[in-house]
Amino acid sequence: MILLIMLTFVTARVINLSDQERHRRHELLRASEARLSGILSIAADAIISVDSQQRVTLFNTWAEKIFGYSTGEVLGQPLDILMPRRFRGKHDKYIGEFERSNVAARRMADRQEIFARRKDGEEFPAEASISKLMLDGQPVYTVVLRDMTEQRVAATALIRAKDLAEAATRSKSEFLANMSHEIRTPLNSISGFAQLLLEKRDVAGELRVQLRKIKDSTAALTTIVNDILDYSKLEEGRLSLSLAPFSPVALARTCVSMMSSIANRRDLSIAITAAPWLAGGSYLGDSQRLQQVLLNLLSNAVKFTNYGGVTVKITDVPGDGGTVLRFAVSDTGIGIEPAHMHRLFQRFSQVDSSISRKYGGTGLGLAICKRLVTLMGGQIGVESTPGQGSTFWFSVPLEPAAALAADSEKVSRRRAFVPRSILLAEDVDLNREVATAMLERAGHRVDVVLDGDAAVKAAEAKLYDLILMDIQMPILDGIAATKKIRQLPGAKGLVPIVAMSASVLSDEIAGFLSAGMNGHIGKPVDWDALLAEVQRQTRPKHDAVA
Ligand code: ADP
Repeated sequence: MILLIMLTFVTARVINLSDQERHRRHELLRASEARLSGILSIAADAIISVDSQQRVTLFNTWAEKIFGYSTGEVLGQPLDILMPRRFRGKHDKYIGEFERSNVAARRMADRQEIFARRKDGEEFPAEASISKLMLDGQPVYTVVLRDMTEQRVAATALIRAKDLAEAATRSKSEFLANMSHEIRTPLNSISGFAQLLLEKRDVAGELRVQLRKIKDSTAALTTIVNDILDYSKLEEGRLSLSLAPFSPVALARTCVSMMSSIANRRDLSIAITAAPWLAGGSYLGDSQRLQQVLLNLLSNAVKFTNYGGVTVKITDVPGDGGTVLRFAVSDTGIGIEPAHMHRLFQRFSQVDSSISRKYGGTGLGLAICKRLVTLMGGQIGVESTPGQGSTFWFSVPLEPAAALAADSEKVSRRRAFVPRSILLAEDVDLNREVATAMLERAGHRVDVVLDGDAAVKAAEAKLYDLILMDIQMPILDGIAATKKIRQLPGAKGLVPIVAMSASVLSDEIAGFLSAGMNGHIGKPVDWDALLAEVQRQTRPKHDAVA
């Protein structure tokens, strides 16, 4: 009996304990479920589970929010109702593949756009990942899905803003190219006729002085047009350097000789000093752009100096793996107040408005110099004392080049002048008149045509030594005409063709050359350069100087 009582007691205790244990486990499970459902309800992604039949078994709060269905409406329904009709077949195939792949979870439609469908039928872009879990021997698939509508809208807006910005840059460049073309064309005839008149012996006295002023003003205006074009190219990163051997001392001499007449007229001395070993030195660099920088500094020095003079000093400083050449332009001019120094080298910046009224200028020169020198990997700077003068300097790293061949200038000077027969294709009357006069004055024979089609016919009828071809012409433009001429048989198809055009951007010039032209002369035409180009292009091949 005692034994029975004890057994009953022990059994009751065991039952009581296992009840407590069950209760404890039940509580744990409840807490875990509450945690899970809490997570599911606050998750900011849709979480949807389906069974092996692809029927929805779980649909969280965020899923209700983005799909517009209540959980009750969706539970037990095929997953298909949440996707656009066109994806339904694809989805079954995808689940089949996922099943066979044996991976536990993966991103859906990696690198492809997927779309889901709301209750009201609206489709929306989504990102989703899928995972598989085995429960009681049955697979449970859970999809975590994010509505990407806002991100796509933002991305589209960004792409559109970028496209708009690019289009604005393109139209700015086109506008600048067009404006530059339109300004250059009349400038060409003004400077050409001024020069023709200046060459007449009977033009003297006041008239000659006024003509020279017209000519100088057109040169100044050409510089401004060039500066604006250069600056916009530099801003857009479209300006590239072309490297060739050059002599820095010869370059400085050219700049000084270009400035010397203005300096003389203003009674200013102008000189170059350079270490003797630099005199025969040759370096690899973009001499045209270096010349542009030096010329700019020199012309500022002359412009802002009333008494005394200007010196260019060239020195070399050893640098990493090459030489750093330093050009310093010192003047005894008005100088710059320390408070104004920070404005220099910035676009459209002059030290004060009284300067621009008195001396003119656009305030672009130094900004262009700074960008060009930076593009070359160099530095630019200034030291100045008000009332005493300034030294503007720049230094650029340059590699030495092999010694320059024979001085091409001297060789060409020795070459005898040969009159050539030239075909000039130009539709603008004034340009045609001035070019013909210049070429004939130099001793060449000129035939003129007014459009590209007439140029092709003339080139077919007669073998010219050279064709000077405007680009924008009626009926057939210069490029199309060149392509046709290049198809003519024999020597007529090989005639040198030089573009003479107000289109001066490097990609435009590259277009002329790739159409089969041999050279380019920009408008306003530098007439000496044109005559030199005629000589160069018509020189017999064996006589060519590299
Ligand atoms: P600008 O076309 O107006 O000359 P720059 O960029 O070449 O434009 O020069 C900007 C300003 O810097 C000038 O307007 C002038 O005030 C000042 N400046 C440049 N060079 C000198 C100099 N050698 N002496 C005094 N001031 C100078």
